[in-house]
Parts: sequence; C-alpha cells; structure tokens
Amino acid sequence: MLEVIPILCRAGQMDNYAYLLVDKNTGTVAVLDASEAEPIIEECERKKIRPQFLLNTHHHFDHVEGNAELKALFGAKIVGAAKDKSRIEGLDISLNDGDVFKIGDSEARIISADGHTIGHILWYFVQDKVLFTGDTLFNLSIGGLFEGTPEQMWNSLQKIKQLPDDVLFYPGHEYTAYGMNALEGEAGRKYAEKVQKRLSEGKPAGPISLGEEKECNPYLKIDKLQDFCRLFN
Ligand SMILES: [Zn+2]
Repeated sequence: MLEVIPILCRAGQMDNYAYLLVDKNTGTVAVLDASEAEPIIEECERKKIRPQFLLNTHHHFDHVEGNAELKALFGAKIVGAAKDKSRIEGLDISLNDGDVFKIGDSEARIISADGHTIGHILWYFVQDKVLFTGDTLFNLSIGGLFEGTPEQMWNSLQKIKQLPDDVLFYPGHEYTAYGMNALEGEAGRKYAEKVQKRLSEGKPAGPISLGEEKECNPYLKIDKLQDFCRLFN
C-alpha cells in the first residue's frame, strides 16, 4: 500500500507539488519531482524518513532542482526517463515506456507521455490506483507544449483517458483555480464544491479521480483530434 504526501514547493510562484511516496509494507520512501530541496527535507525530518529514490516526470528545472541536494543528503538514487538521460543531472536509473519500477512492494508502471516535453513520463501505480501526471495533466487544464506537437499531447491524453475512472491523479502544479471558470453542469458543480473546500482549508485541490476529471477537464472532454489541434492554431 502506497501513502502519498503532497509537499507544496515554490509556493506563490510556480506552486509545484513534490510528493513523498511511502510504501507502507516495507517503509521504502521515494520523492517524486523534487522541485526544491528545503521543504522536502523539512517534511522528511518531521516524519523521520529517508528517501531512497528520487523519481522524475521530466527534466524541467522546477521539477528536478532538489535532486542533487537530496541525493547527497540521503544517498538516494535519481530515477527518470531514458530519453532525459542527458537532461536530468545525475540520473542513476533510466526507464522506458512500459517498464515497472518498485518502491518496496508498490509497483509503478511507466507510461511515456510526450507533449509538454519529449521524454515526459507518467508514473502509474496500478494496484494502488494512483497516477502522477507531472506537467501533462493538471486539474482542469494541461501542460504547455514546450517540445511536443498537439498530436503528441493528444496521444498522451488518450492514454490517460483509457485508465480506470477510480484512479486518483496527482499533478505537478496547483493550477486548479485557473480552470474553474470552465466548469459547467452538475459534474462541474460537484467538482467546484470539492476543490473549493479543500483549497479554502489550505490543502491541495487534488487528488481528483480520473472519472471526475474526464467529465470536467475541457481538454479531456474533446473527442476529436482535429478539434483538439484547433486549440493550438
Ligand atoms: Zn514542465
């Protein structure tokens, strides 16, 4: 069983989320997207845990900048996409689409998701029904196309849409508020109620289930590639 603890990084600037992943069976700990070292170290000290792995979704600085310090402090291994080998500094373990990586007894399947970058990966813990989407999928929006084409982003989003509705997803940034205006209908009303309550309590808006996101995220609601591509013209 996997416990997921969000840590807000670069608060008030880029509002990144790093995530502490604790495998409850073995006590094995990983950090996903170590945005900056300080808040992650504080949380590890508070919980008296030492991460063994530093997992990455993609190479952007606001997702990897804490890696070096955490690696030095904890002796943790840096894990990321083989395609990012030359761009994620100190990468120890490189993974490809379909690979399985274990945090203790918790198994993640790697899903390649080009679009925001080429080489972006999603971390999907199948048994735990947990998905880390980095800068591919946010609550109510998607990541910008820095390196990939609209077609590549579309393909990545279709992979996410094919996953079960009861999977909870954890995005790389707290951008929910920007997408609230687009919410409509009964599903939108429920979504708004849920995330507004959490945000007003100072908590992350997520996690939201993929079922709810498929109903409310305007980018996931589009059924045709050509309609999707039109958004980027
Ligand atoms: Zn990014």
